[in-house]
Amino acid sequence: MNRNIIDQMTEGYVPDREELTELLKGGSDEYLFEKANELTMRVKGKKVDIRAILEFSSYCRCRCIYCGLRADNANAQRYRLSADDIVNTTLEAAQAGYRTIVLQSGEDPFYTEEIICDIVRRIKAGSDIAITLSIGERPYSELSAMREAGADRFLLKHETSDPELYEHIHRGDHLSDRTGCQKNLKALGYETGGGFMIGLPGQTLDTIAGDLLLIREIGCEMAGIGPFISHEQTPLAGEKNGDPLLTRRTVALARLLLPSANLPATTSLGVIDRSQLDLIFSNGANVIMRKVTPWSERTKYEIYPTNFGEEKDILTARKELEQYIESLDRIPV
Ligand code: SF4
Repeated sequence: MNRNIIDQMTEGYVPDREELTELLKGGSDEYLFEKANELTMRVKGKKVDIRAILEFSSYCRCRCIYCGLRADNANAQRYRLSADDIVNTTLEAAQAGYRTIVLQSGEDPFYTEEIICDIVRRIKAGSDIAITLSIGERPYSELSAMREAGADRFLLKHETSDPELYEHIHRGDHLSDRTGCQKNLKALGYETGGGFMIGLPGQTLDTIAGDLLLIREIGCEMAGIGPFISHEQTPLAGEKNGDPLLTRRTVALARLLLPSANLPATTSLGVIDRSQLDLIFSNGANVIMRKVTPWSERTKYEIYPTNFGEEKDILTARKELEQYIESLDRIPV
């Protein structure tokens, strides 16, 4: 039964929520992973996109209960990079070979529409690197101005498609505002990235099925799907981390539902289990991100506990990542 649905999905069939929930239970993993890999090879080939990510502000006005950067975490370390530092670090990343940078921050109103637009214009004047903004929800007019300034992509995860769970983990914010913002991004011509967590306390397999259907409905060109990791300075301290195998299963299903989407191997998966990170490149993932955040600030940006590794310059870190991708018999681009 599951194999039939998987076969049909490779031909464009969209299962309903119940069928997806059945697939998420496992039982056909080997077949699912094989088909997701075949489809990835057909659509993306062996290429793995390497993208830079620059975390430019650890200030956030939000209170997401899973996140170490939440506004009411008095122990979080806060920093803001200047516009000059953001532009110069991005240009350094471009010189090291990166063709896309994700400019990410908490929801920090310090960076106004004018400041972000100025940063985007200066980067575009100095390189042809594609810019992904990951700065939280903004009004339509601001998103429009940033697009006009040259921003190419926007990453805005929904984290969970269950409206009640969404309000619980985002302290009263509404899922409809988030999906409305994602629809605005699509209308403005951004390549739109979404995504969600696996293993959030209160989540069920049915919720994950809804998450998968939502990223398809929105038409996400990129979807980051990673395991929840408990942070000790949050209300979810001590909760169980997300299951890496279920994460891989979900990414494989996302590949079948969104054949041409870019699906990253998320950092959080590698934090929980490095071997699962290697495997996910044969389950549908085709993107990996590498931090280029200055080392003076890097350890302060802690949404979840992370292994920061040894200090390296941007070029050396990129070369090492290319070698890692090649060791998996894939082609870094
Ligand atoms: S998840 Fe993002 S928006 Fe929520 S508190 Fe953390 S940095 Fe802020």
